[in-house]
Amino acid sequence: KPKHIAIYGKGGIGKSTTTSNISAALAESGFRVIQIGCDPKSDSTVILRGGAELPTVLDSLRDRSRPKLEDISTLGFGGVLCIEAGGPVPGVGCAGRGIAAAVDLLEELDVFGTFKPDYVLYDVLGDVVCGGFAVPIRDGIAEAAFVVASSDFMAIFAANNLFKAIDKYAATGGARLGGVIANSLQTPYARDLLDDFAARTGTEIVGYVPRSQAVAQSELYGQTVIEAQPYSEQAEIYRALARRVVGDHPTRLPKPLDGPDLKDWAKQWGDRIFGVEHGAKNSAARL
Ligand code: ADP
Ligand code: SF4
Ligand code: MG
Repeated sequence: KPKHIAIYGKGGIGKSTTTSNISAALAESGFRVIQIGCDPKSDSTVILRGGAELPTVLDSLRDRSRPKLEDISTLGFGGVLCIEAGGPVPGVGCAGRGIAAAVDLLEELDVFGTFKPDYVLYDVLGDVVCGGFAVPIRDGIAEAAFVVASSDFMAIFAANNLFKAIDKYAATGGARLGGVIANSLQTPYARDLLDDFAARTGTEIVGYVPRSQAVAQSELYGQTVIEAQPYSEQAEIYRALARRVVGDHPTRLPKPLDGPDLKDWAKQWGDRIFGVEHGAKNSAARL
C-alpha cells in the first residue's frame, strides 16, 4: 500500500524544489514515486522532467472527455511519475476543486493500482489553507503532512494555518502532522526562531536545508540537485530529509497559536533579533 504524503508551504518558499529533490532521492534508492503538483502554478515537477511540457489534469479534463494516464503524466528523473493538477481558468472556478478532480481521475484510472507506487507526494500551495487546498489532508488522502517554512513571519503564519487545518480534520480521518522542513536558512537566528516555533506548537523540525547555490545552478539545467550534483553536500541533505519524511511519523496533533499569541511571539523575536544585531542594551534587557 502506498504512503501518501502532503507537503505544504507558502508560495515561493521552496515546496516544489524540496518535494522534487525528495522524490528524486527516493527514486535513486529504487522506490516508485508519484509526485502530484497541487498548485495552480503547475510547475511542481518541472525540475524532474527537464522542463518538458506536461498538460495539467484540469486542462485535459476541459479539453477532452476522458483523459488517459499518458495524457496527464510523464516519467521524470529516476522514473518518477509526474502529474500537475493545474489551475482554474483565470477568474473562474476553484483551484481546490481542481485538486479533488485530479485525485478522482487518478483513482478512476487506477493509477495507484497499476503504477504501484511506494510513495505519493502532494506538493500543495499553502498560503491559504482553504477548503480547496485542504483536500489532500482531508478525507484520508494523505496520512501525513509536512510544511516547508523559513524564519520569515509569513512562512510561519502559513505553517500555523496548516496546523489549524490539521486539527480541524483530525477527528474525521484527516492527516497528521509530520513536522516542519526548515528551508533556505541564512541568518544566525533563523534556526533558533524556527526551533522555538516548533517547540511552541508541539511539533519538530525534520530537516534543515541551507540556502545553496547548488539549488539555483541545478534549476538552470531543469534538474534537481540529486540529478545535477549527486555528490554535493546539498544532495546528501535532501537524501537525509527524504528518509525522514517517508519514515514513521509520530501520529501527533500540532498546537497552533491563536492570532494574538502568534503576534506576541513574533514581536518577542523581533526584540531579540534587534537586540542581538545592534547590541542595544535596552532591547536586550527587555528579554
Ligand atoms: P514553491 O514551490 O514553494 O513556490 P519553489 O520550490 O519553486 O517554491 O522555489 C522558489 C525559488 O527558490 C526557486 O527558484 C528555487 O530554486 C529557490 N530555492 C528553494 N529552496 C532553495 C534553497 N534551499 N537554496 C537556494 N534556492 C532555493
Ligand atoms: Fe480558491 Fe480555496 Fe476558495 Fe477554492 S476554496 S475558490 S481554492 S480560496
Ligand atoms: Mg511550487
